[in-house]
Amino acid sequence: MDSGGAIVFGDVCVDGHVDGCVYRVVTHVHHDHIVRLDRSAVESRYVLATHITHELLEELGLYVPKRKRIALGYGDRMCVDDVCIKLDYAHHIPGSSQVVIESRSGTYAYSGDFKSVGDKTKPPTGVDILVVDATYGDPAFKRPPEDVIIGELVKLVKTLLTKGPVSIYAYYGKAQEVMLMLREYGVDAPFIASSKHWRIARRLEKFGYVIKDLVLDGSRESHEILRDGWYIKFEHFSKYRCVRNGSPSQSHILLTGWLFHTPIRAVGKNKWIVAFSDHADFEELILYVDLSRPRRLIVDSSRGGVVAKRFAEYVDRVLGIHAEAQP
Ligand SMILES: [Zn+2]
Repeated sequence: MDSGGAIVFGDVCVDGHVDGCVYRVVTHVHHDHIVRLDRSAVESRYVLATHITHELLEELGLYVPKRKRIALGYGDRMCVDDVCIKLDYAHHIPGSSQVVIESRSGTYAYSGDFKSVGDKTKPPTGVDILVVDATYGDPAFKRPPEDVIIGELVKLVKTLLTKGPVSIYAYYGKAQEVMLMLREYGVDAPFIASSKHWRIARRLEKFGYVIKDLVLDGSRESHEILRDGWYIKFEHFSKYRCVRNGSPSQSHILLTGWLFHTPIRAVGKNKWIVAFSDHADFEELILYVDLSRPRRLIVDSSRGGVVAKRFAEYVDRVLGIHAEAQP
């Protein structure tokens, strides 16, 4: 692991850039996984990602020359000489992948970000070295089951809509997942989305993620809906900090991974935080490593911080797998 956050396997660098990286892989479009992509776009020969990730990179204004883009489907391999790069499905945001590198010297894998281990995210097996992202790798980081959290979130949104408009604050990808989920659970108030959330949702349509009654904030249609006062507005996670008292009938919901042991917490008169995360919690991380059973585990501390070291010690002690945190 490079100190800048790149996972390096020979000529391949994943989610960060190092000098001499020939094949840059992007697991998904979150900002801590597109580190120094501008360098790779210039210096690397190819940039590999899923079709959706390439599409979203373009939408977010992260330029990769078309001739350098290689779009892989899940399970597809790109092989050069005796090295193959394979992307496997990761349940996180649309387009997310795990990376498996097969070479004569061994098989290496990087988890990227993920959740729903076992049924949706299938950990790689037969791996010599596994690099895992362990954002929530502390035993205290446990969330209630996801179906419980979803049930509580839907109930909260439906109740708040009877009192006035609702704003939901979430990262790219997670917002679109929640939009689809709320429709699935019968929430039919119009959605108004900030420009980037709206454009990402539009791009995802061609991959089958179709969100009904989604309107761009600032459009003529959105003005009418705003006047009606019955809607859900989707904003980027970072906008939650800017929420001031405003209208007493307007409710604000922040979707975060940093709430544990309870699905929902009220944090003010009209403000709520909900433990809806796109990351595995501690139990799921352990399950991931246990199902994968690599010969050696490296825990990504450039993204996991001090928790990475604690997680590595736990794995070493409890699962008996040689583990260390890097860099
Ligand atoms: Zn992510």
